This record gives sequence, C-alpha cells and structure tokens, in this order.
Amino acid sequence: KPIVAIVGRPNVGKSTLFNQIGKKRVSIVEDFPGVTRDRIYMDAEWLNHQFTMIDTGGIELEGQDSLLASMRIQAELAIEEADVIVFLTDGRAGITNTDDEIARILRNTRKPVILAVNKIDTPKQEMDVYEFYNLGLGDPTPIGASNALNLGDLLDRVVESFKDVEAIEEDPDEIHIAVIGRPNVGKSSLVNAMLGQDRVIVSNIPGTTRDAIDTHFTKDNIKYTLIDTAGMRRKARIDEPIERYSVIRSLRAVDRSDVVLMVISAPDGVTEQDKKIAGYAHESGKGCIIVVNKWDLIEKDSKTPLKFTDDIRDELGFLQYAPIIYISALTKQRIHRVPELVKYVAEQQNMRIKTSVLNELIRDALSVNPPPSHKGKPLKIYFMTQADVHPPKFIIFVNDPELMHFSYVRFIENKLRESFGFEGTPLRLIVKGRK
Ligand code: GDP
Repeated sequence: KPIVAIVGRPNVGKSTLFNQIGKKRVSIVEDFPGVTRDRIYMDAEWLNHQFTMIDTGGIELEGQDSLLASMRIQAELAIEEADVIVFLTDGRAGITNTDDEIARILRNTRKPVILAVNKIDTPKQEMDVYEFYNLGLGDPTPIGASNALNLGDLLDRVVESFKDVEAIEEDPDEIHIAVIGRPNVGKSSLVNAMLGQDRVIVSNIPGTTRDAIDTHFTKDNIKYTLIDTAGMRRKARIDEPIERYSVIRSLRAVDRSDVVLMVISAPDGVTEQDKKIAGYAHESGKGCIIVVNKWDLIEKDSKTPLKFTDDIRDELGFLQYAPIIYISALTKQRIHRVPELVKYVAEQQNMRIKTSVLNELIRDALSVNPPPSHKGKPLKIYFMTQADVHPPKFIIFVNDPELMHFSYVRFIENKLRESFGFEGTPLRLIVKGRK
C-alpha cells in the first residue's frame, strides 16, 4: 500500500483533513485505550485505490523545541519514507516563513508533492489561492477540510500520483518478521543474535523491493524473512547512538509482515510510540510477540517476571493475546526461542476450526452464559463459521446484530482462545443478521 504523508504547520487543519479522508475500518469490538486514541496513521480508499495516510504532525519528535526545527524534521521524514506528500497550507493565513522553509525542503525531492490550500470555503476566497504558486510546488489545490470541500479533487491528484509506486511481491512460504521498537532497545542486537545462532542459515538475496533490504534465513526447515534489517545490522557495528524512531518505516514493515516482534527494553518499559505501532499491528491483523530485551540488566527475584508481565498487560491492554518473552541479546538468553515462537504464532494465525466444532463452542457458551436480552427482545445466535485465516475471521449469525452487545462478542472471543489458543494473533469476529 502506498503511504501518503500529510505535512504542514500546526493549525492548518492536518487532523481535520486526515479524519475526513480516513474511512473507518470495519470495526470489530475495540474499546481498549491506545487503539484509536491519537491516530497518526489511517487506512483510506479512493476510487478503489487503497493507501495509508500518516499525519506527520502526530509523530512525537523528541527534544525539538523550535517549530522550525520540528517542521524541518517532519518534512524530511515525509520525504524519506512516504510515497506521496501532501503539503497542507492555510489560505486564510497566507504563506508564512515556515511554509517557505517546508517548501524549500520539499522542492528537493523527486517524490510527488501535492500542494493543498485549506480553509477556502467560499468562492470569494479563491483569489487567495494564487499566492501559493509562489511556493514553487506547482498548482495549489484549494480545499475546505472541515466541510470536505473539494476533497475529491485532492484525492484524485493523490491517487493519480500512485502510478509510479510499485507493488511489492512476497514469497508466501516465508514468514515475514518485522522488528519494531524505539532506538536503542536492542533491535539490531536481537537481529544479529538471531542470525548468529547455530543451525541458522542466512541466504541474503538482495531485496526485491525499492527501499527495503530484507534478510532471508532458514532454521529447522522453516524460511523466515527479516524485513528491512540491513540498516540495523550495519548500525549495530558502528554503534551509532541516535536513530530517529521512524514511525513511517515501522508502519511499512508492519504492513509487509506476518509477525511483529515488538521489542521493549526491560529497564525502560512501554512507551506511547510503542503503543501506537502495536495498535497498528493489532488493527492490521498481524501476529505479535512482545520481546522484552536487556533482561540481564534487571535485578530479579521470584516475583519479577510476574510484575513485568502485569505492567505490560496493563499498558498494552489490547494485546492480551501476544506472548511475552524475556531475553537478552547480549548474553543470548532465550534467543533460540524467538524463531520458534514466531513459527508458532504464524501457525496460530493460519489455524482453521471446523464449523461443527465452533457450533459446539457456541452451544456451550450459551448454556454457561446466556446473552442478556435487550429492549425486551431476545438475542438468538444461529451459528458461527470461520471465514478466513491470517488473521482468523469468524462470522456469527444472529437474529438481529443490534441485540449483540460487544461484551458478549468479547465473551465468545475469550471462549475461542480458551479452546483453541490463537496465541499471538488478533481475531476478527463479525456479527451478521439473518432472519
Ligand atoms: P537498536 O537501536 O534498537 O537497534 O539497539 P541496538 O541493538 O543498537 O542496541 C542499543 C544498545 O543496547 C547497544 O549499546 C547494545 O550493546 C545494548 N544492548 C542491546 N541488547 C542488550 C541486552 O540484552 N543487554 C544489555 N545489557 N545491553 C544490550
């Protein structure tokens, strides 16, 4: 999926535009914090083109005190990692110095940049738009984000510019792993430790994709691909201390992966940015393993693992299903377990349960905990069937979906996990009406 970044000063209307364009996902029950709060990415669709949008304004840039400095980084990030850039300006405010600076940076990229002028709500204001030719970024497209004015024109231009974004082909037999986490949590060290294990055969065929160089390896006859790790492997050697936490690169890796390794450093714990990426993996239906690294640095007694597990489960409430593994990339503690766990989670993602077995489960669930009736009308569950794998998707047929409370869906999901595991993979439960 192409990535479209929205760049612009604060208050030009980036979030408004973002929310207008983003279509809601077919939502399963999601009431956990961290999943929907503070979105910086969103899947969208226009004229049958799917893309991911990023609001670069929502990315936390640590230690940037001046607006100009953080705008520069925002623009550079977008250039580095997005396929198409939408530069949003404010038609009422006119061109500011900051806009000039952003434009100067954006003019230096060969990637498509689409200039949009927001807050043009009346025909009278259209004169204000001409000024924006001065930015040297071609035709400005006037829009009114809050009323969705002219959004179609803007999206036409965005979609038009996808022509040169190539499709990515993947080998379906390989398990694709994305290693995600903040700088210095030990991602490179983990990757190197994994590749350095006994019986691991690394066959590095240069990446077929434009910007990712993947590492292919085999262990116990299972083929794995580590996504975009070239940079990591190089980095660990020269020990470069600072790396920007590239959210966009992370999202792209998650998109291409089957299983995400969410790496956390034991002394530091879970951060907000980790939550956002993990939330994205969850919504995208990817498998997930929480890898707690630097376990050697923790003073432990018998209660330590439990305490860590509790804290992580608290912070990442929507990832209850993700196994947690405590490792040290430095001492190699439990490194050999990581590929095994990846393989296990990939199997769980592809597990299929027979309809007859599912209906037994529904019968049991109904007898243990009958659904409460709603507005005096009883909910009837007819049957459940598995419609898909990777992630597993179940359809529950009922008399009236309105009568199905989300807590009851959650209850059925828990029953599915109790009976079959599905460890490490999100589940999709869809309720359909059938008279
Ligand atoms: P990345 O930015 O996530 O790729 O992190 P690196 O792999 O470059 O590691 C950052 C720093 O943490 C380096 O100095 C590593 O030597 C150190 N480090 C990585 N893993 C461990 C670990 O398990 N234990 C300890 N004590 N240090 C580690």
